[in-house]
Amino acid sequence: MKTVRQEVDRSERCGCGRTRTTTFIDIFDGVRRRTHGSTFCAPCGLRAESDWDGPPQDVRAELLGKYGSWELHVDRSIRTRALAAMRRTRPDVPLAEFMAEMGQDGPLLEGTEVEVAVLAAELARQDIPTEARRLGKTDA
Ligand SMILES: [Zn+2]
Repeated sequence: MKTVRQEVDRSERCGCGRTRTTTFIDIFDGVRRRTHGSTFCAPCGLRAESDWDGPPQDVRAELLGKYGSWELHVDRSIRTRALAAMRRTRPDVPLAEFMAEMGQDGPLLEGTEVEVAVLAAELARQDIPTEARRLGKTDA
């Protein structure tokens, strides 16, 4: 599977009083998802690197704004199997939430392209095919 990579720059006030920029790169290579932050302040020379399991909430919102929202769909005939598989890999999600989803037709997940790719890979490993769609895009 192809690597999904998204990045966004965030400007913030540096300790030196000037503006520094952090570039966040959210990447999924088909196996591992990681978010890397690289900060640089030209006026004072500050450099910092940070790694995250996923982007901070405000960065995630910027990624959604820049790259759009994605949905992960599964054929109705295997929806129950897909939800059961999701529950196995994400036991923190409340059972009631899953039960409420069982008879629905909506997407399994809505989020960034990286988030959707992560779940698609999890399900593919359990032989459950899915389809990712970008919201609001009609040029199929
Ligand atoms: Zn600085």
